[in-house]
Amino acid sequence: MQSTMQRQQLGVPRLLRHITRITARSRVYTPEQPAGISFGELGARAARLANALAQRGVSAGAVVGTLCAATQEHLEAYLGVPGSGRVLHTINVRLHDEQIRYVIEHGGDEVILCDSAHSARLPVILAQCPSVRLVVIVGAGQEALPVLPGKTVCRYEALLENAPSAVAWEDVDEHAAAIICYTGGTTGLPKGVAYSHRALWLQANSLCTANSLGISAATRLLPAVPLYHVNGWGLPYAALMAGAEIILPGQTLHARNLLALIERHQPTLVAGVPTIWSDVLELLRERGANSLGTVKTISCGGAPVPHTLVAAYAAMDIGMYQAWGMTETLSMSAISQLPPWAVTRAEQEHYRRKQGRVMCGLEVRVAEIGGGVLPCDGSSMGEIQIRGPWVTASYLGSDDQENFDEGWLRTGDIGTVDPDGFVALSDRAKDAIKSGGEWIPSMGLEQAIRGHPAIEDVAVVGVEDPRWQERPAAVIVFRDGQAASADELAAWLETQVARWWVPNQWVTTEELPRTPVGKIDKKRIRQMMRAGEFPLC
Ligand code: AMP
Repeated sequence: MQSTMQRQQLGVPRLLRHITRITARSRVYTPEQPAGISFGELGARAARLANALAQRGVSAGAVVGTLCAATQEHLEAYLGVPGSGRVLHTINVRLHDEQIRYVIEHGGDEVILCDSAHSARLPVILAQCPSVRLVVIVGAGQEALPVLPGKTVCRYEALLENAPSAVAWEDVDEHAAAIICYTGGTTGLPKGVAYSHRALWLQANSLCTANSLGISAATRLLPAVPLYHVNGWGLPYAALMAGAEIILPGQTLHARNLLALIERHQPTLVAGVPTIWSDVLELLRERGANSLGTVKTISCGGAPVPHTLVAAYAAMDIGMYQAWGMTETLSMSAISQLPPWAVTRAEQEHYRRKQGRVMCGLEVRVAEIGGGVLPCDGSSMGEIQIRGPWVTASYLGSDDQENFDEGWLRTGDIGTVDPDGFVALSDRAKDAIKSGGEWIPSMGLEQAIRGHPAIEDVAVVGVEDPRWQERPAAVIVFRDGQAASADELAAWLETQVARWWVPNQWVTTEELPRTPVGKIDKKRIRQMMRAGEFPLC
């Protein structure tokens, strides 16, 4: 029997109708607009953008790329572009020019919205991008518009000026692409994932449930997350959906900027990668402060979250909830909320240390590399696989099914899943260390090493070994003015972990190399290790 329910499409047009009618009074604040603008005004500007694109002959289905930070204009593009049936391609500004050229060409972008801060890069990037015909410079840059032969170049405000501010926001097919995002491209060319309107809606909806981040009209959200990284972790759409107040950090995620925004706008929920919150912590300590004001919860993920960081914020009465996700899963797919039976401090810590419990609607399983399915028993370790309505089934313009297994996405993350759906990661498949036939979990080892008082940060990589095939090596960043010898560190670590986990080599650096999305770049570290570029501890 078919249901009697209406077949209404989920997606950005529906969201726009909601924010311009129902939650129109909630506001978005930015460093440039400390008084904020209302969702109603935001929707009207998104309508101007949609109408301006139509006036310029940019048709439905056309791809509009952005080279923009976490700004109000970028949020307008999040709404106006997919809301009018076009496709938004959020480009990671930290990719190399050649990678950016590649993703623009691969995505078939017709229009580029570019922050004035990046406009000097455009002549090189766009020299070989024939699909791009309109370039819109965003922001109050004083410099002249870039000269781009064969392309129309204008300013964002001029584009919006003569366009009407009303649109009906008609539904589009909920399975059509709304946003394109490319993977970081550390292991080859970036791969594109096209999120459907339905996927965006469902993921945003689930971020509003109390079991995940519980975003509501009472939330004041500061996402310290670039809007080009995995759809801003789904947070902008979730906050718009809930009518939550949004504080966008603008051009910089620097700790000083974030602390100023926290003081001014008093968020209750903030989000970002561990590096950001460890920078914020350092700045707080420098200032002799031990409070983040109104902040009650930090959603942290995108990279392993140090236990020491969780503990430092817990001491300020702030819950740091870990989340796990990836470009292919439209950001968060598991969040470390506690189950009702985690009552004691030790039980709660056990769960908080895991990457998270899989969100309702998604399914996870563990698989042996190149082999069968393993039990979800919390101890069988293998590759985590995932499926669900906000998980991609392929890469854009590619038939390659190497990363898929019978309809499941192979995440490339190694770990366990317990019977209650809590995911615990121990490695990226490509970073796993196999020593004498036994796995050494680099993430677990790094967590242990970070517990040393002289150590600020660490990366562990496998290096070739004639006897054990591979042995761990640790690259240490010492705290200011601190140091320790390899022997001291090894002797201390032996009291913390199994003896055979203790790295054979200890080297040091001032700063760990990072990828364009800010993750520790272990490929580069392995190259530097091989070339002997790090001084010994
Ligand atoms: P990206 O597609 O750039 O967002 O990268 C996704 C990858 O980041 C995942 O596959 C994980 O390897 C890693 N990652 C994300 N969240 C976490 C987390 N909470 N702990 C450890 N690694 C994480």
